[in-house]
Formats: sequence, structure tokens, C-alpha cells
Amino acid sequence: MAETFDLVVLGAGPAGYTAAIRAAQLGMRVACVDSGVGPEGKPSLGGTCLNVGCIPSKALLESSEHFHRTSVDLKEHGISIGDVRMDVPAMIERKNKIVRGLASGVGTLFAKNKVVPFAGSGRLLAGMRVEVTPLAGGPVETVTAKNILIATGSLPREIAAVPADGNLVVDSSGALDFSTTPEKLGVIGAGVIGLELGSVWNRLGSKVVLLEAMDTFLPGADEQIAEAALKEMTRQGLDIRLGARVLSAKTGKGKEGKEGKEDKVEVEYEDASGKHGIEFSKLVVAIGRKPNTHGIDVNEVGLLLDERGNIHVDDFCRTNLPNIYAVGDVVRGPMLAHKASEEGVMVVERLAGEASRVNYDAIPWVIYTAPEIAWVGKTERQLRASAREYKVGVFPLSANGRARAMGQTIGLTKVLADRHSDRVLGIHIMAPMASEMIAEAVLAIEFGSSAEDLQRTVHAHPSLSETVHEAALAADGRMLNFHG
Ligand code: NAD
Repeated sequence: MAETFDLVVLGAGPAGYTAAIRAAQLGMRVACVDSGVGPEGKPSLGGTCLNVGCIPSKALLESSEHFHRTSVDLKEHGISIGDVRMDVPAMIERKNKIVRGLASGVGTLFAKNKVVPFAGSGRLLAGMRVEVTPLAGGPVETVTAKNILIATGSLPREIAAVPADGNLVVDSSGALDFSTTPEKLGVIGAGVIGLELGSVWNRLGSKVVLLEAMDTFLPGADEQIAEAALKEMTRQGLDIRLGARVLSAKTGKGKEGKEGKEDKVEVEYEDASGKHGIEFSKLVVAIGRKPNTHGIDVNEVGLLLDERGNIHVDDFCRTNLPNIYAVGDVVRGPMLAHKASEEGVMVVERLAGEASRVNYDAIPWVIYTAPEIAWVGKTERQLRASAREYKVGVFPLSANGRARAMGQTIGLTKVLADRHSDRVLGIHIMAPMASEMIAEAVLAIEFGSSAEDLQRTVHAHPSLSETVHEAALAADGRMLNFHG
């Protein structure tokens, strides 16, 4: 007879594994089915984020940043060293080790919380049953669930005219595993992944060209930050071409590959000035991700999808079917790990009778470039469109003592607040460690703070967080450490 669980979770990414652990804490008997495999081809928990997303990309960003600092920035500090070299395979192995450690950590957490893992792909069957096809082969198993949580994540979007071959033309996962630094790297899409991975390989010496279809750079970010970021990324050597529509990509042999394998990609694209041809040693496609409903058989049970292919859910992540929930990248909203995990927690806490909710107005965004870019709440463009009267406070990093001591003065902090109520509506940061600084901003939005609350909050000196304090003061025209 099929084993029965209070909750069967499909997917062990940040949404699924967090939900499974929280549900177990709340006393539920939980199974988690996951089909992910790690760098060695073995089952690996943690989903895209842990295996081929957030974590490995941050590992490479860290390594490449060290390389860049050592080879370029240390001179300014009076430190001279000899020839600096990068061992790319060692960097990749360090990244893989971090991934292995964290993925096995999820397994340990499952064991400690008595979550039953199933390494295999799950398929929904009528009657609240889930069929599991084990990764290791062997007989198919069926489990029965009182509740099902779908947390199957997302997959990279593809372009028909640019077929990926996993070698010269790769998706974001492939770009985490190059064994050498590509001489000339093309990236289609100057979004979050394009900028992060483009930055990694640019720092290691690739000539990086980003082909972005939109005319606007980072349309989701505040305009002032996007403008400053474009200037800085360009200064760092990223060749960002906006309004560039890729028409085709063809792999072939260059000088090096004459006798042997193909070693170049020829890309044709079109912009306002006409058609162009450009040659790369590797091409990364990073044009967004699509919800992953592949294989779970949504039609079998009559699960409703929306027009974008996401599983349709309400504010509490309830699907159109009773006792079936969906969270994370597979549903509407930003494809962010922290949004996904909070949704998972909300669902299982509500199953346990708690009144949990996700505050979708207080979700931070981070782009891990150098400097980092982070924001929460509304942008100025959104406020203009809403006709809400607002005030703006901007403080440049160049006027912050800590930033000057660090030698990292590019960037700014911006506070947007309601002109009448003083309530903080948005905070936008371009600064080193903006990913850490944004926590204060998220808390301000979560607590419904006023600009005055930020002004009256004591910030440590010297610290980058003082720019939040000063930007809040600037919203009322009373900065203390800058006059401009
Ligand atoms: P994205 O939406 O951030 O950027 C994709 C870019 O590709 C956009 O600027 C888009 O205009 C462009 N584009 C689309 N089609 C194109 C085409 N045919 N030719 C040229 N450009 C084209 O998506 P992404 O960078 O692929 O990231 C995928 C998802 O993963 C995002 O939702 C992102 O939020 C998430 N992610 C988040 C982080 C983070 O939080 N730091 C890091 C990586 C990825």
C-alpha cells in the first residue's frame, strides 16, 4: 500500500526544502521528492539556487573579485606583488566543494527533521498521489499525500535561433563551469545573470560583450541607479550593447580549431544602426527563466496555469485544486530564492493553522556586481506613474568615510519617502555589500518606517550604512556630510 504523508513536497530548492523543514517542525510527516543532480551527476538537494545558481555564482564572483583586487587594486594600498595568475580549474573545484557541502547540509537537515527524501522525479496522479521515478533506476513508487506543495522551480529560457550545444553555446549553468577563461565571451541578455557572470569572466580577463534586446538597462531598478551602474559596468570593461536583437548564432572553426573541434560562435544581431556580425569563443544565453512544470503532469490532475505558464495561485499560494499549493519560481512574482522560501514557510504554517503571509511589498532585490546593487520597495519611475507625491534623498558613496577608506567610492544610496506621511516607499543602494545593507531598508519597509525613523536611528561610524542615514536626511534637505 502507498505510504501516506501529511505533506509531499515536489522540489528541494530553497522553496521546497525550507517548507519541508518548517512543516516537519510543525509536526507534519513530510516527504520531499527531488530530481536534482550535482556536479558529479549524483543526487544533490538544494535546487537551482544551491547547485547552479545563487551559491556557485557567488563563489565565482568572490574568487574573481579576489583576483581583480590582487592584480589591480592592491597597488593603491601600497602592496606590490609579482605576477598574479588564475587557476581556473582550482576556482571551479572550490565552487563545487562549496556546492557539495551545502547540498549535503540540506540532506543532514532533512535527516535531523525526519523529512523523508525521495531522489527521483515526481508526477502528480489523481487522488492526491505522487508517483516517483527514482534517479537510480528501480521500481516506480507511489506515495499518497494529504497536502501537496509544488516547488519545482524554473529552467533557463532558450532562443530557437541560438541552439545551446553545452560547449560553445551554454546557459547560465554552463557558464559556471568553463575550464579556461574564454578570450571573447558573448552574453545574450544584460539582466541579473548576464551582469553577474559577465563580471566574473571580465575580471578574469575575457573580453565580454552583452547583447541586450531592450533599449533600457535594468528596467526593474531605479533609473538613477541603473544609469550609474551602466556607467560603472562599462568603465570596468563590460561592452553592453542595448537594443540588440540576436538573429542567429552558428558554431564553427576558427584558426585554432582548423584541424580539430569547433571553437568559435558567430552571432548575427540587429540594432537601430542595422545588422552586425560578431565572433565569440563562448556564448552564454541568459534571457530569463521559465517556470518548470515539465514532467509533473499538470494536465493529469487539472492544475491551472496562467498565460505565462506559471502555476496559477492566489496570494496564499493556493492552486485551483484543494490541498495543492505551489510556491517559488513556478508561480507568479520575482524568481528570487528568498521570496520562494518565505512562500513555502507561509503555506505550511497556514496548514498548521497559523496566520502567516508574505509581504510582497518588502522583497529585496540584489545584483551581485561590484559594487553590488540592491533595492526594496518602489522606484522613482513607479512613484511618478502612481501620481503619489514623494521626496527623494540621495547620498553619494564618495562622501562616506568608510567607502573612502575602502577605496570603493562608486555608488549611491537613495531613499524615497511619501511627501506627506514621510513613510519610506523605496530604498535603492549601489555600494559594496549592498546585499547586507539592504536588510535595514527591508526592515524599514516591513515596519512601515518613516524617513524620520531612519534619521533618528543611530548608525555606526564609520560604516557604509551611514549612507542610508544620510540619504534619509537628504530626503528633508539636511545632509550632514555632503553639500550638493
Ligand atoms: P533577467 O530577466 O534578469 O534578464 C534577462 C535579460 O535578457 C533581460 O534584460 C531581457 O530584456 C533580456 N532578453 C530577453 N530576451 C532576449 C533576447 N532574445 N535577446 C537579448 N536579450 C534578451 O533574467 P536572467 O538574468 O536570465 O535571470 C533569470 C532569473 O533568475 C531572474 O528572474 C533573476 O531574478 C533570477 N536571478 C536572480 C539573481 C539574484 O537575485 N542576484 C541572480 C541570478 C538570477
